[in-house]
Amino acid sequence: MKQVRVRFAPSPTGALHIGGVRTALYNYLFAKKHGGVFILRIEDTDQTRYVPGAEEYIIESLRWFQILPDEGPGFGGKYGPYRQSERKTLYANYVQQLIDAGNAYYAFDTPDELEALRESDPPFKYDAQSRMKLKNSLVLPPDEVSTLLENGRNIAIRMKVPENEIITFEDSIRGQVSFSTGELDDKVIMKGDGMPTYHMANIVDDRLMEISHVIRGEEWLSSTAHHILLYRFFGW
Ligand code: GLU
Repeated sequence: MKQVRVRFAPSPTGALHIGGVRTALYNYLFAKKHGGVFILRIEDTDQTRYVPGAEEYIIESLRWFQILPDEGPGFGGKYGPYRQSERKTLYANYVQQLIDAGNAYYAFDTPDELEALRESDPPFKYDAQSRMKLKNSLVLPPDEVSTLLENGRNIAIRMKVPENEIITFEDSIRGQVSFSTGELDDKVIMKGDGMPTYHMANIVDDRLMEISHVIRGEEWLSSTAHHILLYRFFGW
């Protein structure tokens, strides 16, 4: 069997709460049970939610609980850096691959435009239905896209979620889980500041850090459908 490598991947957006500790503990116990490796990865790509001192607090808490990582910031390991903000340049290449293959596109809608759409009823979703009516590189003529890219303002890169598909995967607790792509939106994978979003950075790092099992809070279950699509786009 492949070596078990699991990660606790908190975002330093505030104090570590008990649900986070529980996730860390499950990862730790799973690693220990299988003679595997427990990794701490700091998911700090969302600069707007970054809270100074939160990372130190997380590490201090893990030390206090004696849930010590085998690899992570300040713990060593061959797969670093273990802080995503320090891996920024690495993600761009993967995003470009998605664009080149037609699995991602540039979106130029301004925050105000999106905000106005969100007030609509039924609720707005950037997806296969709406994307052809919006301001993006799937719709606009190439010369206008080039101008907007040079202009550099309000550029987001979104993944192109396929229409009418059922994404199915195995969850060890829930069993077989399915999501229809009709429920999923075209998630932003990279923002204008060149920082990847959680989804993009998370799947690239799980791949590069050779993570064997993903153990995370249940609130992330629906994101797994997006992650599976991204894995498929890369042929992983
Ligand atoms: N950064 C996410 C969090 O804060 C990680 C979720 C995951 O493990 O994929 O919970």
